[in-house]
Amino acid sequence: MDRYKYDLHIHSCLSPCGDSEMTPNNIVNMAKLLGFDIIAITDHNSSLNASAVVRAGEKEGLLVIPGMEICTSEEAHVVCLFRDTEKAENFSRYVYDRMPDVKNKPEIFGRQDIMDDSDKITGTLERLLITATSISVNDILSETRKFGGTAFPAHINREAYSVVSALGYLPEEAGFKCVEITADCDIDAFRKEHPEIEGLHVLTDSDTHYLENFRDPGPWVELPEKTADSAIDLIDGTGKGDFSPFGAT
Ligand SMILES: [Zn+2]
Ligand SMILES: [Zn+2]
Repeated sequence: MDRYKYDLHIHSCLSPCGDSEMTPNNIVNMAKLLGFDIIAITDHNSSLNASAVVRAGEKEGLLVIPGMEICTSEEAHVVCLFRDTEKAENFSRYVYDRMPDVKNKPEIFGRQDIMDDSDKITGTLERLLITATSISVNDILSETRKFGGTAFPAHINREAYSVVSALGYLPEEAGFKCVEITADCDIDAFRKEHPEIEGLHVLTDSDTHYLENFRDPGPWVELPEKTADSAIDLIDGTGKGDFSPFGAT
């Protein structure tokens, strides 16, 4: 077992709210510079920039897990991670068909650019990515598992767009084995209010949309090997390893 510095919630320029500077190589170079070992690329409702970031990461020895931050039918954000880009892209197509057919207005919401691993724009997604899909909180984990992936509720202590803000609690039926909280969360107070998170892994990510939002690589994850499979198995509750206690570095 080794310990790896991680950040499993990072947006690229494909997210309308993601800065245009969040290109595949800028993300990888910033993560390397800060000392991360493992990152995940999690754009809103799409995984179509993940392959470029994965390839840019391979060139630099940084493990990039392809993922997505889905918005469920209840307007709750859930991070989904996949074992390879093909599986992530298949899931992305599945999600695209479960989003309302609303066109992005780049001048209001921001551009939704797809890039290659040399940061060249190769396409633009027309359908607005920050809408609610028709997939529910209780179904999202089982849906991602059909694509070989896993999922955890994002920033559950936030007062908007979290499973807890949308539903008032974390439903056991959803089956999550892991939750994400923000770095400024008062974990003891939160645990008192939400005893349903007892026994679940707790992780912290940056949810960065701008290069300057990257967090310090304090928290670690202990894994049998530095692979997407190991991280996904741990988050899914079947693998070995652990996340650092909240607040520890
Ligand atoms: Zn979010
Ligand atoms: Zn996010």
